[in-house]
Amino acid sequence: MNVSPAAADEAVLDLFRKSGALLEGHFRLSSGLHSGRYLQSALVLQHPEFASALGERIATATRHLDPTVVLSPALGGIVIGQEAGRALGVRAIFAERQEGKLVLRRGFTLSRDDRVLVVEDVITTGGSTRETVEVAAAAGATVSGAAAIIDRGGNSATLGLPFFALVQLEVPTYQPEACPLCAKGDPVVKPGSRI
Ligand SMILES: [Zn+2]
Repeated sequence: MNVSPAAADEAVLDLFRKSGALLEGHFRLSSGLHSGRYLQSALVLQHPEFASALGERIATATRHLDPTVVLSPALGGIVIGQEAGRALGVRAIFAERQEGKLVLRRGFTLSRDDRVLVVEDVITTGGSTRETVEVAAAAGATVSGAAAIIDRGGNSATLGLPFFALVQLEVPTYQPEACPLCAKGDPVVKPGSRI
């Protein structure tokens, strides 16, 4: 089946919209910043059938890398990492913070023979992806690529790895005093409140 890139993006964004994981409007985020979009991937991933569909899309985009294991940063990456691992037929493990540093715990191991695919829900600055890559490298494994459902930053080139995002989506944020939506007089709401 030939699906245009734009149609594929829309199919992914539809799952986000259906589950309230992507709202359009004028929002006050928990950081205090304002945005015209609210993105909360946990809300799409709470639906197993949506999580599974997104995991399959990531697997389709990355299968050629022939990963032996999926590694995700906790907590945001765990559910989609699990689903990508299921679709690829490989282990799915996660790194978590201990004293501020991402580490493997719970008996999770990587070997020199492992080819690691780093999977996250949303990549913004690439910082947590890079940190997760370092966890795999420190364990002696090879990192064959990284993937995310949504790339908010468009900075994947800086990763120095094959990188696949199902959707590129900018979520610009503004200081309230510099917010163009406030300037237009649009009422601002907290995500989750009725609009
Ligand atoms: Zn505003």
